[in-house]
Amino acid sequence: MDTIPDEHSKLSGREVLRYSRHLQLPQVGVTGQLRLRSAHALIVGCGGLGAPVSQYLAAAGVGRLTLVDGDTVELSNLQRQITFNENDVGLSKSEQTTKRLLALNGDINVRAVTEHLSVDNVETLFDSVDIVLDCTDNFAARYLINDVCKRAQLPWAYASIHQFSGQMALFEADGPCFRCLFPQPPVNIPNCSTAGVLGVLPGILGTLQAAEALKYLLGMPLSLASKLLMVEVADMQFQSFCMTQSEDCIACNGQQELDSHSEYYNTECAVDFAHNPATEIPAAKFLKLTTNQQTTQLIDVRNQDEHSAFNLGGINVPLDQLPAWLAEIDHDQQLLFYCQVGARSAKACELASQRGIQASNLQGGINAYLAATL
Ligand SMILES: [Zn+2]
Repeated sequence: MDTIPDEHSKLSGREVLRYSRHLQLPQVGVTGQLRLRSAHALIVGCGGLGAPVSQYLAAAGVGRLTLVDGDTVELSNLQRQITFNENDVGLSKSEQTTKRLLALNGDINVRAVTEHLSVDNVETLFDSVDIVLDCTDNFAARYLINDVCKRAQLPWAYASIHQFSGQMALFEADGPCFRCLFPQPPVNIPNCSTAGVLGVLPGILGTLQAAEALKYLLGMPLSLASKLLMVEVADMQFQSFCMTQSEDCIACNGQQELDSHSEYYNTECAVDFAHNPATEIPAAKFLKLTTNQQTTQLIDVRNQDEHSAFNLGGINVPLDQLPAWLAEIDHDQQLLFYCQVGARSAKACELASQRGIQASNLQGGINAYLAATL
């Protein structure tokens, strides 16, 4: 980070009062608080991780925050995305987060970007940034963040969450990177919308990200430099593992070109979420089709527990049992799959079409259906 210019080397009386608990810390003090005030953090994703990250950085007095998120708030987000309330449903996540942050700290600058991070906007957005915080839920965004940060010599804080587990790392410009850890996109790693997550988990991981980011901006030693922290909330285990730089890493060796057609940046979320708009049925049409059960077989491809807890009718064939079930059925049937958010049912359609069976699936799953019928 740049040194602080002389003309900006004072805190106002209001700032001295606001940040008094920081100023009492020898590791922060006036110099550290001024460093935070002159810093620019870019937060990609305003969901579960973005909620604690953005609010703690704003409260701590990080002077410039840019929030990147093209999504709108959904009712199902409120279980963990604590920036939002019921009145925010349907509104832009980055804009609503901006309002919340400015209400928390009117002395900082906050900018909302209401689009997703992409190959087209990433280099402009990362210009003049001191640190990037990955609060996304997908590998495509992480590869993009990683590759641009490597080139621009920027540090970035990574976190991911899954059910009761999380992981977090701060990748520094000259250390091992995300591609050293994951050279290829893993297969069948679902994001939290397809696998479920304990509501408090992003709060824990996001708060850890914010802590490492603040320490970096303050110039403090980083506890997680070249380490991956694994958190398991089910039995409350915290473990860190050393990461080493891979000699073959294409990002560390400067061989990774930014290309919007690259398989790394093209997947909207997990690599197994193979959307096929041609087979997707919008929630509004779903009810009409399901009332005509003579010709349409309705199938819930979630697991048995999920089906028992709540379902939209039809039979239950969990996705892992579907190939065997498809091998036994009459090919003249019209199949209509559904699941919780539309990912597993999209996969089910793909499996059916491989066998030459006509199938469609409920777009956005039960969540979209319930949202449309509220
Ligand atoms: Zn690397």
